[in-house]
Amino acid sequence: MDENKTKLVELEEQLMNDREIVLFGGGLLCKSWLDGGFDEYVNLVIDNNPEKAKKIIKNKKVVSPDEISNWGQFIIIITSNYYEEISEQLCRFGLIKGVDFVSFIDYMLIPPQMRRITEAVSDIVFEGDEDSKEILEKVYSLSEYENYCKKYSNSIRYERALNKVYQKKIGKRIAYHGYCDVCGKETDFSVDYIWTDGSMPAWRETVFCPFCGCNSRMRFMIQRISNNYIGIDSKVYICEQVTATFRELKRKIPNIIGSEFLGDTYKSGEIINEVMHQDVMNLSFDDNSLDCVASLDVYEHVPDYRKAFYEAYRCLKKNGKLMFSIPIFKDRYRSTIRTIFNDEKIEYLLPPVYHGNPISGDGSLVYTDFGWDVLETLKEVGFSEVYAVVYFSVKRGYMGELPIIIEAVK
Ligand SMILES: [Zn+2]
Repeated sequence: MDENKTKLVELEEQLMNDREIVLFGGGLLCKSWLDGGFDEYVNLVIDNNPEKAKKIIKNKKVVSPDEISNWGQFIIIITSNYYEEISEQLCRFGLIKGVDFVSFIDYMLIPPQMRRITEAVSDIVFEGDEDSKEILEKVYSLSEYENYCKKYSNSIRYERALNKVYQKKIGKRIAYHGYCDVCGKETDFSVDYIWTDGSMPAWRETVFCPFCGCNSRMRFMIQRISNNYIGIDSKVYICEQVTATFRELKRKIPNIIGSEFLGDTYKSGEIINEVMHQDVMNLSFDDNSLDCVASLDVYEHVPDYRKAFYEAYRCLKKNGKLMFSIPIFKDRYRSTIRTIFNDEKIEYLLPPVYHGNPISGDGSLVYTDFGWDVLETLKEVGFSEVYAVVYFSVKRGYMGELPIIIEAVK
């Protein structure tokens, strides 16, 4: 453990501090890069134009290539539109594309040292523990979940180790090389500290694939739902319609039904500008008519989630499945009601909290902070099998301290 720690520190030093970042090309692109926050990481600019060399750009010395004696000490970002020419030039100096130099476009996608860091951190943390790299388990209680947290503690250590490396990272966007299950190809996910207190990246809410635009939890839900229902003539309903998740699911399950909550003035099932309105506490679907009811982070915004569970249960066929993600407090048993909606009046038991909403810029009010007792509630509603699915994948970029989704079988 301590030995690994030392190795990790050494690695960081080697990868992050050994080689200096320099920009090749002292034109407008270079200036905008330095303006855009890269200022503190770059000490030197190289330019082929003798007029520009010997000048200073944004406090950085500009030199001509002749003045460089040891190219190996740099990682070069080509900030010029003459990428091909400069690339050939650098190859003649014996430098390797993607290792010693990258174009600014490639750099935005993934700095080469970051790709090596992800792999190296993974090798160190998971040494001899392949099981913790890909996790998919059903859990039936908080105590069972806690056991898995112990068993798979390396997955959490991996995220913490990456975080440590990322915090030294140049710029604000972090790349994570992996495989997007939705697109079916390798990709460079983008990771961000947005919506967090800055102590850990938003693993659950970011790790976005640049091609499909889906974050970590969206990608997991899409593959989980489609693995269950793809190619089968099944009736799947999901409580969203104007999102990337719906768009991607519809590619895989063409007859999937989606909806949004458009406001109290509409009746469930009504279609307004091609968007279907549904109130999850009062669905328009017939009894025993659906194979799957799915949602992503919806039930915490519903005034009476119990009622919504009864509605899902009513509409599902026997053996039909309710599948959903919620922001659950994974260390708590009891759910907490934040807001009550009574007699047309909203009462705040706790300070109001809002989450993003694709339909409204005002966001969605949170009514419930869920704990593990949500599993008991689903059983009381009548579901025969209720469990959480714990998932994690180094390769697929499913992260967030052993995240879970909930499934309930009628
Ligand atoms: Zn994708």
